[in-house]
Amino acid sequence: MSIGSQPRFPLATLPTPVQEAPRLRAVLGGPARCPRILLKRDDLTGLALGGNKARKLEFLVADAIRQGATALITTGAVQSNHARMTAAAARLAGLNCSLVLTGHGDDPPVQGNLLLDRLLGAEVHVVQTGGASLPGGDAVSDAIARVAEELVMRGERPYVIPVGGSNAIGALGYVSGTLELVGQLYTMGEAPSRLYYASGSRGTQAGLVLGAKLYGAPYRVVGIAVSPVDPGRDPHAAEIANEAAARIGATTRVVVEDLVTDDGYVGEGYGIPTPGCLEAVRLLAYHEAVFLDPTYTGKAMAGMIDQIRRGEIDPGETVVFLHTGGVPAIFAQPELLLEAAP
Ligand SMILES: *Cc1c(COP(=O)(O)O)cnc(C)c1O
Repeated sequence: MSIGSQPRFPLATLPTPVQEAPRLRAVLGGPARCPRILLKRDDLTGLALGGNKARKLEFLVADAIRQGATALITTGAVQSNHARMTAAAARLAGLNCSLVLTGHGDDPPVQGNLLLDRLLGAEVHVVQTGGASLPGGDAVSDAIARVAEELVMRGERPYVIPVGGSNAIGALGYVSGTLELVGQLYTMGEAPSRLYYASGSRGTQAGLVLGAKLYGAPYRVVGIAVSPVDPGRDPHAAEIANEAAARIGATTRVVVEDLVTDDGYVGEGYGIPTPGCLEAVRLLAYHEAVFLDPTYTGKAMAGMIDQIRRGEIDPGETVVFLHTGGVPAIFAQPELLLEAAP
């Protein structure tokens, strides 16, 4: 058993490029102050405008098909990238798709990801929730159960994908993504000391950390949290990683001490951009013509930039930033992002 023998439904355009960001380095102080920065462009995975969920969905959709499912159900915020990409994956696999999306306020604007969900023909159910956290809780699980029941009554066989696609099967996406990246770095002769990425529901973390151990990655995996960190999430992430390891017959195990999640850049909460996030969006657009998003990658890049400015990373080193996508969300918050324009 290995990652290569896992059931997989092709959805992503792989490998995604690894590109150096010399103009960003120059604006952050040049070689005297700033490490070399490589961007792993998982915003270019394809599948309806790209992002990290394409990698997870290749394994999740294969499992759904294997189980004879006829419809996918998943959940996320109204501007969920995961929901949009699940709707796209369903179309390509010939499955129906129901989305349970959480929002606050009636009639969320049909923009960004929500507009794409509609174009993809997903059945959208909006559940009202309060504060700015990742979707979850009883209201959401009740709504999912209701939607699943309705589907069964219509003769469908629903397959429920958890928020963010973050379970052991989804985590295989970044085990395989790590194998791809480690191979690219080896070919390029690069040995970056850290890999930065935006951490939400932890499936990406589970795959990245397990993959790094399995394939001898040169870097330490540094997650920048995009929502307040609940201490119960570390054991959960380790569990997902270990279940993924068992699936591919690996004896490697992930322990809580392997997981690094920096919650210093969350700001007021999930989906609320910080000044550093807006600055990061502006810097990447202006200097590298790369678009970050206001919910995930902007905050992660803000964290990396702050650590560079504080001198926490030796300028002689190289770092990798994993661009996990999220670009459609830009169009849902235009006023806010205009403030970030030069
Ligand atoms: C979902 C998502 C993440 C976080 O991935 P998790 O596996 O949920 O931690 C990061 N960036 C973007 C753009 C995402 O859509």
